[in-house]
Amino acid sequence: MENFKLSWANLFGHAATVNLLKKNIAEGTFPHAVIFSGIEGIGKRLAAEICAAALLCENPTDGEPCGACENCHQVAAKSHPDFFIVEPEDTKTTRNIKIGQIREMQSQASLSPINSSRRVVIIDGAEFMNVAAANSMLKTLEEPTSQTIFILLTANRSGLLMTIRSRCRTINFAKLSPAEIRDELIRRDIDEATAQSLSIIANGSFGRALALKDSDSAQVRELALSTLEKIFREEFTSEDIFKLGEDIDKWSREKFSDFLTHLQKILRDAWTIEISAPINSDLSERLRGLKISERKIFSLIETGTLFHKRLKTNANLRLLAEAYLFRLHEMTR
Ligand SMILES: [Zn+2]
Repeated sequence: MENFKLSWANLFGHAATVNLLKKNIAEGTFPHAVIFSGIEGIGKRLAAEICAAALLCENPTDGEPCGACENCHQVAAKSHPDFFIVEPEDTKTTRNIKIGQIREMQSQASLSPINSSRRVVIIDGAEFMNVAAANSMLKTLEEPTSQTIFILLTANRSGLLMTIRSRCRTINFAKLSPAEIRDELIRRDIDEATAQSLSIIANGSFGRALALKDSDSAQVRELALSTLEKIFREEFTSEDIFKLGEDIDKWSREKFSDFLTHLQKILRDAWTIEISAPINSDLSERLRGLKISERKIFSLIETGTLFHKRLKTNANLRLLAEAYLFRLHEMTR
């Protein structure tokens, strides 16, 4: 079916991984518990949904769902009685999968499948299971039933309980190459120059490239640079930090992640500008104006990496942003 969204044809990149998954589905060797591990926005969720469709489809061909049967339609519409998706619930300050969500899934999963011979459960953002939820999930994995297949998706595999990790097979989804991202953007009617620059800023994630296209990435970059300039001119006060924290509080985590990424790239550029062409080639003059010692740049980049990692936990965004800005502020003194 040409318009069926849950087709492998709609997932680009990951050729070897896709072949393996298709083979497992076709041969009936798909693991009962599997972790799809990889950064945000590279197609893990789409891959998982295609797997679910293929596993529940009445008429799959070589691991490809037919797209025409009732099961395929219901999986695509998320109305299939044997298909569940558990996702984190976002509040203003936290991001969690709670035990109630896992219990609800378990109580449904304890019944026999209704429309198919098996059931598929996707847990998206599995690292956001809180301790109680994770322990409850572990129990389910310890008592596997042949009827239920669990697909856990995570951008931070080490954030999962070791005991959960050890009970699942892990399939890694690698970062996409800039060329893969660029070509797909062009295929979606984005002009070549924009596609080229988005593919570089996106850092291996197609989802991020799309988010950047729709967001104000240029503005975020400007804010990152002007913040650094202000810090280095020693004009950055605690009041500025709280003011910026207040703004960031209204951002998505994705946007703050972009802010951090831009800062990191600007720092790297400032460090290498005398020996190689900067990534932000349009900012050369201002980058030269950032007079930072090599030692400081290293520790600033290290700090950025650390906070980028923390961003993947459920830390409060505003507190995290303010802590980061305070660190920058202190380190540049
Ligand atoms: Zn089908």
